Amino acid sequence: MDFASPKKHYLSIRTEIDGAIKRVLESGSYVLGEEVSAFEKEMAEFHSAKFAVGVNSGADALFLVLDTIGLKAGDEVIVPPFTMAASAEAVCRVGATPVFADIDPATFNIDTERVAQVITPRTKAIIPVHLFGQPADMAKIMVIAKKYDLVVVEDACQSIGAMSGDKMVGTIGIAGALSFFPSKNFGGFGDGGMVITNDEKLAEGIRLRRAHGAKSKYFHEVHGINSRLDPLQAAVLRAKLPHLNEWTRRRREIAGTYDIELSNLSEITLPYAAPNVFHVYHQYTVRSKRRDALREHLEKKGIPTMQYYPHPLHTLPIFEQGKYKKVDMPEAVRACEEVLSLPVDPFLSDAEQEMVISGMKSFLR
Ligand SMILES: *Cc1c(COP(=O)(O)O)cnc(C)c1O
Repeated sequence: MDFASPKKHYLSIRTEIDGAIKRVLESGSYVLGEEVSAFEKEMAEFHSAKFAVGVNSGADALFLVLDTIGLKAGDEVIVPPFTMAASAEAVCRVGATPVFADIDPATFNIDTERVAQVITPRTKAIIPVHLFGQPADMAKIMVIAKKYDLVVVEDACQSIGAMSGDKMVGTIGIAGALSFFPSKNFGGFGDGGMVITNDEKLAEGIRLRRAHGAKSKYFHEVHGINSRLDPLQAAVLRAKLPHLNEWTRRRREIAGTYDIELSNLSEITLPYAAPNVFHVYHQYTVRSKRRDALREHLEKKGIPTMQYYPHPLHTLPIFEQGKYKKVDMPEAVRACEEVLSLPVDPFLSDAEQEMVISGMKSFLR
């Protein structure tokens, strides 16, 4: 059993993907070009957004947004401490300071009450992360942002297609960052990422900066980097895009089966989906006070699990700056001690899921 199986995604639509790759190889154009433009157009349409800009990774998508809006040393950006390090690393890359606000233990997403508590005159932006495929509380975040004049940059790297009310994630703040890392819900065959935005100036600025900041060839106007999306990745993802909604449906179906089958297990807290969200289940993450023993029990039965994430970001050497204590973010710390993600890949078979379910049941018996 695989925890995630990008290879099975490939094999299920092999002819389409092989054809797409061949098309790029024969085109003679191997950086950006028409394939990437066509993919950007399709992704903007998928999000009902005006612009989509392909870049090299989700991490670069976040960095390029923060850089283009002009964040710099001395600025503070509010981020959750329970996420992949890349969410906060982007803040450091522009020289600004990540300021952590603890999570809501029910959703694992940033706690909006805590956000309001850490705002200072230096706060410039909030990066809500839609963790595990569930949108953060965007309605409240947008109210806070408006009140304090803050920019909202959504980390949608785990949540393509998720909805907050009737709005797709990535289109609610000024911009959203997507990742095409192979094991994400919508993954390529290597690294890739994208910025979704309705802001024309921002889209333009990111286009400039993803290719060394040159508007016309060799005339460099701003400091940029090399963060171009490969046409090979774009072609693969274009072949996958028509299947994304079906794969999301299947993830939700698997999650629904876990919800029912595991609902009576004492000691296990199942993931909570807030009302009014469309959760895309990048991860199906349960909690247990005996997490390590549970993980070992499942592993012995050949059931793969993952621990996202083992360390709260405010305790990592790169972020703590001597400023945070472990107790400052009790919910993030507790989550790191209790979480366990079960397989929820769309290509998990019913028989495999039954194995996971009976493994869970036998631990608690
Ligand atoms: C994967 C991920 C990123 C970074 O994406 P890369 O493409 O790996 O750079 C950022 N934030 C979150 C929440 C992620 O899961």
